[in-house]
Formats: sequence, structure tokens, C-alpha cells
Amino acid sequence: MVTFFVADLHLHGGAPAITQRFLTFLRRQAVRADRLYILGDLFEYWIGDDAPLPGLEELYAELRRINAVGPPIRIMHGNRDFLLGDSFFRQSGCEPLAEPSVIDLGGEPTLLCHGDALCTDDVEHQQFRQTTADPAWQSAFLARPIAERQATAKALRAYSRSGEQGKPTAIMDVNQETVAEWMRRHGVRQMIHGHTHREAIHDFELDGRPARRIVLGDWHADRGSALACTAQGCQFRAC
Ligand code: MN
Repeated sequence: MVTFFVADLHLHGGAPAITQRFLTFLRRQAVRADRLYILGDLFEYWIGDDAPLPGLEELYAELRRINAVGPPIRIMHGNRDFLLGDSFFRQSGCEPLAEPSVIDLGGEPTLLCHGDALCTDDVEHQQFRQTTADPAWQSAFLARPIAERQATAKALRAYSRSGEQGKPTAIMDVNQETVAEWMRRHGVRQMIHGHTHREAIHDFELDGRPARRIVLGDWHADRGSALACTAQGCQFRAC
């Protein structure tokens, strides 16, 4: 049996090829799996459950169907779809997964997170994260008219793209000390996250013992990536 992990699909109505690629993965592979974890940024952005992204109706229906006939799909919020709410989860049948969460992966306690909270060198992003995590900020945003929220999301996406271009890539990666702190705090030696789009398995030493950090890849029109974990171990599968 297999447990799948994916992240950073960044789905939206304007990228139908990636959506189709993910639908194929759901229908051919995920449906026969034990479990499927989506570790954040399934959607390019999310401005509230009352305004689901248009053009993804087939995906919403497929999530519902897989949850009914296949493995449970657990979804963690990312830094782009942090407003996925109760109504989305109820309608899709997906289960919300708190960040961070520790799961038992074949006997190994494994810490799951989206990954942006580990990028502590990016002070600007950590401030954005702190602001938007505030329930008062969220309810004020969700109370605004849909057109206004759409305009804000559009501006934020443009701002995030321009900010990323100006930042050294090291700042956009995880901070190794933060990784070590999180592992110690949660008593794990294995972690899986996304966000940085730097697909890799990093083996390193933590306090004199082996530890592992697995980074999920992002999805493109011509290539998707899932981490497949079985009793034999974990490996990336192109989808
Ligand atoms: Mn992200």
C-alpha cells in the first residue's frame, strides 16, 4: 500500500493542463492509495469558500468522488490557500490537516508542514504570515465584497512575484536551524514539506543521529510530482 504526498499544485482556472494532470493522478493513482496528503498550495489563491475559483468544477467533483470511494484526502493550508474554510472541506469531503502535524509513516514519526514557516530568513514573508494568520484579519477580509477580495488577491500575487525576483534564493529557502528546532520540539527525525519547490531528499545529522527532510516538488503543465511512501521507503514519482 502507498501513501502519497503532494504540494504546490497552484491550481486555478487559467492553468487547465496542470488541473488535468492532477485529475489523472487522482483517478489512476491516488484512488488506489492508502492515504493522500496535500501539504499546502493546492490552489494558486483562495479568497473565501463563497467564491471558489472558477474553471475547477471538475476538480471539486473529483475530490468529492475520491473521498467517497477512495482514500481520505487530507489538506493542509499553504501560504496561498490559507483561507480554505469549513464549507470547502464539508463540500469536498476532504479533511483539514493542522499545521504542523505529526503522523506515523510506516512506524516513523513524521512532521508535516507546508514549509513557508521554516523560511525564517525571509522576514517580510514571516510578517505577511503573521498578519494573515490573525483570525480578526481573516474575518475582516472575508467580510469584504468578492470583487474587492479578488482585486486584493491579484495585487498580492503580483507583489509576491516581484518580491521573489528581487530576493536572493538562499533567503527563500528553509533555515536549517529552524528545521532542527522544529524537529527537536516535535520529537521527530523525519519531516516532509513543500513550498520551496526544491524537490529533494536531504539526509543530515541532527544532534549526532541521522535525520531526513523531504521536500516536495511543485507541479507544471508538463510534469507533476508526488512522493510515494511504501514499506520499502519513500521515492518521488513523476505524474
Ligand atoms: Mn507555498
